[in-house]
Amino acid sequence: MHGTIVLATAAALFMGSVPFATSPTDRLLTMSRAHAQEAAEVSPVLARPRDTYYPNSEDLAPDEMRVIACGTGMPTTRAAQAAACFLVELGNGDKFLFDIGTGSAERISSLQIPYDYLDKVFIGHLHADHFGSLGELFIGGGIMGRQKPLRVWGPSGPVEELGTAHAIEGMQQMYKWDLAGRVGMIDFRGFQLEVNEFDYKGENAVIYDENGVVIRSFPAIHAIDGPVSFSLEWEGLKFVYGSDSYPNKWFVEYAKDADIAIHECFIAVPDLVRKMRFTPEQALTVGTQIHTAPEAFGKVMAEVQPRMAVAYHFFKDFDTTAEINDRIRTTYDGPLSLAEDFMVWNVTKDDITVRMAVVEEATWAPPLTGEAQLPGENDQKNFSENTGVPVEQMTNSDFIAGGRWTPVDDVNRVIYEEASEVIGREFKYPGDAQ
Ligand SMILES: [Zn+2]
Ligand SMILES: [Zn+2]
Repeated sequence: MHGTIVLATAAALFMGSVPFATSPTDRLLTMSRAHAQEAAEVSPVLARPRDTYYPNSEDLAPDEMRVIACGTGMPTTRAAQAAACFLVELGNGDKFLFDIGTGSAERISSLQIPYDYLDKVFIGHLHADHFGSLGELFIGGGIMGRQKPLRVWGPSGPVEELGTAHAIEGMQQMYKWDLAGRVGMIDFRGFQLEVNEFDYKGENAVIYDENGVVIRSFPAIHAIDGPVSFSLEWEGLKFVYGSDSYPNKWFVEYAKDADIAIHECFIAVPDLVRKMRFTPEQALTVGTQIHTAPEAFGKVMAEVQPRMAVAYHFFKDFDTTAEINDRIRTTYDGPLSLAEDFMVWNVTKDDITVRMAVVEEATWAPPLTGEAQLPGENDQKNFSENTGVPVEQMTNSDFIAGGRWTPVDDVNRVIYEEASEVIGREFKYPGDAQ
């Protein structure tokens, strides 16, 4: 085991993006070839290929898929790992988010992708660690320049109240004040939601077919009825994503031939007791019956045989990772990534490279894809009709407005004058005579 870690580190240090070969021997041979090549090319003044991914620094080839982990953790929040979220970017320009767990919207923002391109979210099930950041993408993305509705796909439930449409409706109710407080003041085009609820019992059912991309759904087994897994096929490449599940026959069948297959892999039972303070009974149930144990993850992948198996849904620490890896390796010896946030997979028919992204934390709004617009004239009226909030309530009452402390008008007016002068267009101070 120790030898494998050393080799992997050597590869990362010296070789840049090296395709993961299938066996340790293949990997070693590929490495020695790459070493020889690198020695011939090295120079003290020329830049060499980097072995990390810097967002917005690499083109996607027309036949290439890039997958980025924007959340790989657990429902218990931590700064080091957001909860489940994987971004798929395709060479045709399409981008898809699979799950958007708590904390993942921050990770997404670090990639500096224009929000118009992040308009499609597929939710595998309605646990907060799989869709808890949807509201942040909805509201924050609208503010950060999304100029179109956010489109969401998610499963039905055993009853209507437990389906995705009901959950999204509830989220919009929750944000009613937020939205009422923005409508009429900013470009409101991005503050719309399109919800596509599909039957959770669909077995390899097509739920999306646009622009050469086909996404299918199949049932998963987790908690109560409703959870699903997804496959995405495009240009002969196949991405498979399992939201939470006990190992199930649908995944084993429909994930076959995947280029990259992502499946949950829970923290090993002893660590659930040691680190999560679970009782042994609770650890056994949660770690093997509600979720997929590492050994079971390995067994599933041994059957599916993807070009790259990706395990996520565990806290990846110095004292948990080896346990998970060792247990997976009792049942699976194929290509494996133990995911953590900002792991990046570039997938083509020839290669799958695995790297880590180096990202900005102090990000600002990414570029707009279309011209900025002022609020629409009918935005408030339309919002009122849709929500029942009276238009006259979408502003301050005389009582509250009467509390404005007027001495600051003097300094604020100067800011308006400054803007008018710099931009060469007159901005009238609110309330001043025309
Ligand atoms: Zn779950
Ligand atoms: Zn989960």
